[in-house]
Amino acid sequence: MASSSPLPRHDGQVLVVGGPTTVLDLGGLRIVSDPTFDAPGPHGYLTKTEGPAVTEDRFADVDLVLVSHDNHADNFDDRGRAFALAAPLLLTTTGAAGRLGGPAKGLGAWDTHTLTRPDGGELTITAVPAVHGPEDGERDADGEVNCQVVGFVLAGDGLPTVYVSGDNASLRTVTEIARRTGPIDATVLHAGAARVPGKFRQRPVSLDSARAAAAAAILGAPVNIPAHYTGWAHFTEGRDALEHAFGDAGLTSVLCIADHGTWLSLKP
Ligand SMILES: [Zn+2]
Repeated sequence: MASSSPLPRHDGQVLVVGGPTTVLDLGGLRIVSDPTFDAPGPHGYLTKTEGPAVTEDRFADVDLVLVSHDNHADNFDDRGRAFALAAPLLLTTTGAAGRLGGPAKGLGAWDTHTLTRPDGGELTITAVPAVHGPEDGERDADGEVNCQVVGFVLAGDGLPTVYVSGDNASLRTVTEIARRTGPIDATVLHAGAARVPGKFRQRPVSLDSARAAAAAAILGAPVNIPAHYTGWAHFTEGRDALEHAFGDAGLTSVLCIADHGTWLSLKP
């Protein structure tokens, strides 16, 4: 098979490409979140250390791209940007939509967008809040810690309800999402305890492993798929730390983690 042939669809499953980037096949739709496909190398003050497990040409049949924020290369690198702008629809923050144009539509927290599924049903995407650093971190002119970020909750009749966190370090925000959305069946959690020199005294700007386990507990989700824990030099906690933290919390059974490029079911 040529490497550029589309990756067969695996409905009801998720594949972590590397870094924050995941592919979700849900309700007959293919969704790619926070696309990053560059080769390893420097990106300004950040350094990429691993390329994608699967390249973007395999996902050219994408129906929807989700971008939690466009401000940082580890969530939106050069090839990821080109991929996103070629997609039929890109949901992101209001600020990013203004900057990106094209297929981008901006959603504020709790705004929704509904897509028709191939089977005639609907998939509703709700933008949910995210705080990209410690609660007491310095706020920008818009009142955001670090920058404007959204997470997403994907839901539809007969489908698992999936929370894709985006870069969020706040358990208070996870608690608010749990309260407002009702049961979450599966999560994609941006973990890795990203720490950036000079920012917030090097405190994490994404979930550390213990907070990822706590988020899984707060949401009560039976399936939790970490992303954003390897592939960039500023990610300080990898797969071992996640396995340890979920183990310490007695939550090993709800942690779904495998080598990047592996399909993982959204159902337990
Ligand atoms: Zn970021």
